[in-house]
Amino acid sequence: MVSDTDPRQRKVRILATLGPSSDDPEMIRKLYLAGADAFRLNMSHGSHADHKKVIAAIRKLEKDARRPMTILADLQGPKLRIGEFADGLVQLEKDSIFTLDRDESPGDRSRVSLPHPEIFAAIEEGARLLLDDGKVALKVTAAEPDRIETVVEVGGPLTNNKGLNVPDVVIPMAALTDKDRSDLAFALDQGVDWIALSFVQKPEDAAEARKLIHGRAALLAKIEKPSAVRRIDEILEAVDAVMVARGDLGVEIPPEEVPPLQKQIIEKARMLGRPVVVATQMLESMVRSPSPTRAEVSDVATAVYDGADAIMLSAESAAGDWPEESVAMMDKIATAVEADPSHWARVHFTETMPDSTSADALAEASNGIAETVSASAIICFTTSGSTARRVSRERPSVPLLVLTPKLKTARRLGLLWGAHSVHTRDVNNFEQMVAKSKRMALRARIANGGDRVIVMAGVPFGTPGSTNVLHIVRLLGDELQRHTQAEIARDR
Ligand code: PEP
Repeated sequence: MVSDTDPRQRKVRILATLGPSSDDPEMIRKLYLAGADAFRLNMSHGSHADHKKVIAAIRKLEKDARRPMTILADLQGPKLRIGEFADGLVQLEKDSIFTLDRDESPGDRSRVSLPHPEIFAAIEEGARLLLDDGKVALKVTAAEPDRIETVVEVGGPLTNNKGLNVPDVVIPMAALTDKDRSDLAFALDQGVDWIALSFVQKPEDAAEARKLIHGRAALLAKIEKPSAVRRIDEILEAVDAVMVARGDLGVEIPPEEVPPLQKQIIEKARMLGRPVVVATQMLESMVRSPSPTRAEVSDVATAVYDGADAIMLSAESAAGDWPEESVAMMDKIATAVEADPSHWARVHFTETMPDSTSADALAEASNGIAETVSASAIICFTTSGSTARRVSRERPSVPLLVLTPKLKTARRLGLLWGAHSVHTRDVNNFEQMVAKSKRMALRARIANGGDRVIVMAGVPFGTPGSTNVLHIVRLLGDELQRHTQAEIARDR
């Protein structure tokens, strides 16, 4: 089993969604061994009892592998749906009139119930209503308090409770539904590390979730609405990470606009030092096939070249026939891209601007110093994880070893580019810091006798937010011989 002494060589992280194809302990273990660094639970599916079992399996794996594991609970959010049809299915013809109303009776080819009063209040003439992931498109011709009349622009079959996207107007909806609140309470109670918020429209949505989370997990906003794209700078300020959720984003905006947006969101997130995940359909054909299309391979590669922190598998690992192979394929693609000599230059195409703080100044300098002195690694002592985030933002070419006394921090950093976290006892003085850096570097096999490593910490030790030390440590030629294997392995 891969353990905390074996950092992954790959810098980009793999976030694998768990579901019916992968929710038993043995398959979760296989996904981890194939390269999954973090696991996503999709709260749109499964009961709390199901999720509880999966979380317990991940925590058991964490113990066995002696490596912090990252769990992200993805809340369903205010997903809009139409009501039901008398016959379960209707065929909408192009240019026909179709009405959505507040009448709860079953619909037909001329009308259907829409159980979301907020839409009636906000919708405007000319706005588009997209059904079933955009397969059916309607244009609003009359917006009244109790009915929305539309003309069918793209026809097709429509069945009960299909999803509805309203890209052109901001719907005044609460960021969290009653189901989300109950799922959130459950997920926090289970000690998940990240909460993902779906259909975020504005920074206030994130603020509302933050209040409820109250520091018990980190917060990721899924960017899947045009309104969120418009306010991306403010949303980035309000959260800990973002996801380019290309599934719904590609319904709400034309698909050809998704790639430039993906690049822009990654760049903005990276500049602010917020981890960014690229998600959805990355290896979609592997849901049913053991090998991906060339275009999918290229799509994964693009996200890695863009310097995304993490790449995500959805149905491929959750509900597909080849979950383990999908993770292994993503791992192989990312590893090949990172081995490309042009990768480093491409990743550094995004220039980050340090804040005028000593922590940012040191984090930025650490990268350059590591190169100048040919250091083998950067080692961060951190309590909150903020030093590690700052160093990772610089996308260093050498391994980044994060030592933290807080298991919560070690787990949360699992979405961070290049960070290998170890949960370990804190140090109390400079000598301990140097000695521990050497032992941990040897244990993780990221440095040998005679190598230099860059060490970052905050003095006084154990005080969050105090990063003010950058020290170059040289391991002695016989450093490994000075410590017994047992001593190194024992270091906690
Ligand atoms: C997406 O829309 O891309 C996404 C990740 O959300 P979900 O899978 O929850 O629909």
